[in-house]
Amino acid sequence: MRKEIELIVKPKFVNKFKGGYPLIFKEAIFNLNDLKEEGAIVRLVDQNKSFIAKGYYGKQNKGYGWILSRKDNEVIDQAFVRKKLQSAFQQRKHFYEDEGTTAFRVFNGEGDGIGGLTIDYFAGFYLINWYSEGIYAFKDDVVAALTSVTEFKGIYQKKRFNSDGKYIDDDDFVAGERGEFPIIVKENGVNFAIYLNEGAMVGVFLDQRNVRKAIRDHYAEGKSVLNTFSYTGAFSVFAALGGAKKTTSVDLANRSLSKTIEQFSINEIDYEAQDIIVEDVFKYFKFAKKKERVFDLVVLDPPSFARSKKHTFSAAKDYKDLLKEAIAITADGGTVVASTNSSAFGMDKFKGFIDTAFKELKGKYKIIEEFRLPDDFKTLDQFKEGDYLKVVFIKKLKG
Ligand code: SAH
Repeated sequence: MRKEIELIVKPKFVNKFKGGYPLIFKEAIFNLNDLKEEGAIVRLVDQNKSFIAKGYYGKQNKGYGWILSRKDNEVIDQAFVRKKLQSAFQQRKHFYEDEGTTAFRVFNGEGDGIGGLTIDYFAGFYLINWYSEGIYAFKDDVVAALTSVTEFKGIYQKKRFNSDGKYIDDDDFVAGERGEFPIIVKENGVNFAIYLNEGAMVGVFLDQRNVRKAIRDHYAEGKSVLNTFSYTGAFSVFAALGGAKKTTSVDLANRSLSKTIEQFSINEIDYEAQDIIVEDVFKYFKFAKKKERVFDLVVLDPPSFARSKKHTFSAAKDYKDLLKEAIAITADGGTVVASTNSSAFGMDKFKGFIDTAFKELKGKYKIIEEFRLPDDFKTLDQFKEGDYLKVVFIKKLKG
């Protein structure tokens, strides 16, 4: 049995937890100091010691742990984890049946009943992401439960809980057989090269699946495309396959060049006919403006926070200015795909940034399409922060 600690919830927040809010946060608890060992089971009670919910203690940037159950007699053990996994797998059945897509999320944290834990599927391999030391304490139960509900070639993991919530570099192999990387997965018929044992990022961000498909199927044909913060060039590959005249991918990281070449190559696209530029996006915008270069489609998908030599970028503070740069080099009638994974603001505020950017440029626009997280990234209505992805397709109108 795991240690159990009683946490007393402040009166003001009792109803929030009763209503299904899943995150244990500082302001809500009287006796946080009683928390010692991560992974301990916590019982949330009110000031009269009436039971509210139980969960686990795990510190991550978002809070102090997650609610797991609202039943006092429910035991948090391997069988509990198995039940949650089973239900999550059941809901992803149609993903397993789709031969054109072999990479998706099978377990999405609090959306599937266990916050701080996600599991992704990559063509026979599973990748477990642990977001706190506390959830990592459940590793044996999670791996055993995963083994009992599904078959796999191998399991890998990412421990995302060093002091600033970042990835801890390690051999990430957990169980089964080791993969020969890259393994090639498919997404709507397109190939991706995946590396499960090479640092924090594996080669693709699965949450943009529907956006990539839309670009390929409805936006790329005959267009010049600029993909900023391009990483492995996933948006560029889909644009090229959708018949783009040419793609230009810009990313600061040296690795992005070889990774993008690889991505094009495994999809039989001649990478030499595309531009792949290793440079600070802000510098590239200046260059493009000076050369009076314009693009029909500009994809903006920056990280929520980034520090380069010259810039610190924070989506919450700087997205509007980033948009202005992008709009300036978008052709009239062209499209800006503005994307953010920041959970610091919601869709309304994001659209506010878009509106202000155009106003400040005295430009006109029309929102043509919007995307949120795909179905496999299951979220809770009671936890809006978990529904982080916001993507808006904006048509720049003639001013
Ligand atoms: N859009 C990508 C994912 C972006 S990940 C995709 O869909 O796959 C964020 C990327 O931004 C990283 O590859 C990082 O190297 C890059 N980056 C961060 N700051 C940057 C800057 N100032 N200029 C260019 N690239 C930057």
